[in-house]
Amino acid sequence: MHPDCERILVSEEEIAARVKEAGRWLTEKFRGTFPVAVCNLKGSSVFFSDLLRATQVDVEMDFMAVSSYGAQTISAGQPKVTRDLFSSVAGRDVILVEDIVDTGRTLVTLRRFFADRGAKSVTVVALLDKPSRRVVDSQADYTCFEVEDAFIVGYGLDYAERYRNLPYIAELKRSVYEK
Ligand code: 5GP
Repeated sequence: MHPDCERILVSEEEIAARVKEAGRWLTEKFRGTFPVAVCNLKGSSVFFSDLLRATQVDVEMDFMAVSSYGAQTISAGQPKVTRDLFSSVAGRDVILVEDIVDTGRTLVTLRRFFADRGAKSVTVVALLDKPSRRVVDSQADYTCFEVEDAFIVGYGLDYAERYRNLPYIAELKRSVYEK
């Protein structure tokens, strides 16, 4: 384990098994369609690439970014779209791939964003959910793991741009960010 981590919350093996299940769920749900899978950068990038290789659906990949944290561990106000999609989603089924649903504000913002762009449907697949932190009523359609209120890194999730490449999901030591 990385020395800055307190403990591993989800192991590499547990992630792989659950991602397979999520991929199968997408295969059933979107059989015979051609949805756009949207990666919310950067935190969802590792999950996104594993998830899409675990599904048999033909998907278009697209990418966008929403600001929320900066180099902090607490969500800072209203999320903003900072990088737009490459393609139009008008009339398309959208699969939004999220790293973690925390306050729920990002999800509310993104559901509104896709509705404004004329998406036919929006299905949210989230790697993690911290239900105890919810501020607005918003939920993913498929969640891989529920986690307690801790600051999490690994498998795409960062603190100040570090730890995204850890293959597991871990709690970061408080001493790392409470300096
Ligand atoms: P929300 O808008 O739901 O409060 O926040 C969602 C975003 O906050 C996530 O997409 C993620 O980037 C960030 N976030 C929330 N909790 C954590 C966490 O424990 N660790 C990290 N690295 N990012 C988090």
